[in-house]
Amino acid sequence: MNFLEERILKDGIIKEGNVLKVDSFLNHQMDVRLLDMIGEEFYRRFADKPITKVLTIEASGIGIAYAVARCFDVPMVFAKKAKSINIDGDMYKAEVESFTHKNKNQVIVSKKYLSADDHVLIVDDFLANGCALQGLISITESAGASVEGIGIVIEKGFQFGGKSIRNLGYHLESLAIVESMDAETQTVVFREQ
Ligand code: 5GP
Repeated sequence: MNFLEERILKDGIIKEGNVLKVDSFLNHQMDVRLLDMIGEEFYRRFADKPITKVLTIEASGIGIAYAVARCFDVPMVFAKKAKSINIDGDMYKAEVESFTHKNKNQVIVSKKYLSADDHVLIVDDFLANGCALQGLISITESAGASVEGIGIVIEKGFQFGGKSIRNLGYHLESLAIVESMDAETQTVVFREQ
C-alpha cells in the first residue's frame, strides 16, 4: 500500500452517491508535506517526458498542480470556470460537467498561456467519469500542444473515466485507484497496481 492509499484509509470519508471526501488533507485543509510527496511521485513517473507546463482545473487541482510543477520547474496553468459573458476570442474553452455539483461550467485558458510548443502534463485530484479531463485534453489539443501524460491523485476505478481515457491512448497514472467503497461500513478497496 502506498502513502496515499494509507492516508485515504486513515482520513477519507465515504459519502452516499459514490463520493469520497478527503477534505482533511487534500480538498479543503491541505497537508503540504503530502502534496510534496504527490509532486515527487508524479515527477518520478513522468520524468522521461519533456514537460513544459502543468495544467489543471480550478479549484481543487491547483494545490496538486503547484506541487507537480515545482518538481518539473515549469509553470502551472489552471483552467478557470467562467461566466460565458466574460469569454472573448483570446481563450481556449471547453464545457465541463461537474461530478460533485452536477452543473455545467465553461472552463477557459488564455491563449497567452498555452501554445503549440507546449508539452503538457494534465493533473487533477479525482477521476470519476472523465468530464474534467476531457475538457482539459480538449483545451490542450485546441492549442496544438501535446498531452504528454495525465496524473490523477485518486481514480474511482468503478466509474468509467479511467477506462475511456486509457482507451483513447493517453498515458494515465493514478496514485490510488479505488476499486470499490462502501458508505455504510466505511471500507475502501484499492486496485493492485
Ligand atoms: P469527472 O469529471 O471525472 O466525472 O470528475 C472529476 C472531478 O469531480 C474532479 O475534478 C473532482 O473535483 C470531482 N470529483 C469526482 N469524484 C469525486 C469524489 O469522489 N470526491 C471528491 N472530493 N471530488 C470528486
